[in-house]
Amino acid sequence: MSPGKTPSKNPFQICTWQNMTECGVCSIETNLNCRFDWGDLAYFAAIFSPPAITAVIGMLLGGFGWYLLGWAGYAIFFFFVWEARILCCHCPFWAEESRVLHCLANYGVIKIWRYHPEPMSRSEQAQFLIGAGILVLYPLPFLILGEQYLLTVILLVGLISFWFSLKKHVCSHCVNFSCPLNGVPKSIVDVYLQRNPMMRLAWEARGYRLDPR
Ligand code: SF4
Ligand code: SF4
Repeated sequence: MSPGKTPSKNPFQICTWQNMTECGVCSIETNLNCRFDWGDLAYFAAIFSPPAITAVIGMLLGGFGWYLLGWAGYAIFFFFVWEARILCCHCPFWAEESRVLHCLANYGVIKIWRYHPEPMSRSEQAQFLIGAGILVLYPLPFLILGEQYLLTVILLVGLISFWFSLKKHVCSHCVNFSCPLNGVPKSIVDVYLQRNPMMRLAWEARGYRLDPR
């Protein structure tokens, strides 16, 4: 059984984790990646892997293999602790009652933080951009210092391709609406919040207002 099919695992009554039959006729179903789907996870892995693999090969060939340990350590800290607290714990995918995160990007992260239904603060948004920037750009100096110029170019092309694929196919459908990269139109966000009263309350307490219908 895929994650999310058990209503008892949905203590915050988030529609993303309700039984699919409860969605009924939903006007925004095709606008969002609102339910866990292995295809979405595979797509994220497919766009993320080429630059990551290029970076690993470049660091090894450039003689900086040991510095991969620093990158791996930072990645574990970022995904499990820092990003988890500032970004992911605000996401409807985090609301499932499970110690393990089931979502379309960070699948498998152990959840050490509670779910926060309110939107990200400005500080959290800034921290996310800084933290993600460090993660993405970490290998670049090592490739240049190791004189791996061809791989540096391939890495940059891979990162640009990753960015455009992410923005076009992932961020435009993502249910973590307060992420600074999120591109879902406000009209769709409003409908999702109407379907999730607890989340709507938390958002309105932070000053968010639904447009009059
Ligand atoms: S937005 Fe919510 S109610 Fe609508 S299809 Fe997605 S999970 Fe179901
Ligand atoms: S913000 Fe992205 S990575 Fe984090 S839980 Fe939501 S879908 Fe997963």
